[in-house]
Amino acid sequence: MRRPPPGAILVPQEYQRLVANPFLALALLIAWLGAMRLALLARNFVAVAVVGVCFFGVIRLLHYHCLDCGHTGWLFRWRVHACEAVVARQVAGRVRRWRGPTPTVQVVLWLYVIGCAVIALGVLRLMPSF
Ligand SMILES: [Zn+2]
Repeated sequence: MRRPPPGAILVPQEYQRLVANPFLALALLIAWLGAMRLALLARNFVAVAVVGVCFFGVIRLLHYHCLDCGHTGWLFRWRVHACEAVVARQVAGRVRRWRGPTPTVQVVLWLYVIGCAVIALGVLRLMPSF
């Protein structure tokens, strides 16, 4: 693995090629919402507390994926990912050709797309012909 020159400050964000993946967390979020609904309907405080704590498991499933090395990690740690390709790009001073949104912004954009799809499905269900 190539290392940056001594004294160089490693700022991998400018050299990473990462894709966010919120779909696993979203799938578990749907199950979590169902479990929370059941716990609230049962008025069981212990179940509500247990399901509430499980929300951290949902957050833990927000991932990023590195297009260079294939590494998958927790979304909130994307800034520190510096694999060999990222370090080599930084040492060579080659910034990414296409500067897309950060993984965190990608997740927000995906949530907007999914929210719009849910609203569209809701509107379609209200239409009399469906
Ligand atoms: Zn990587």
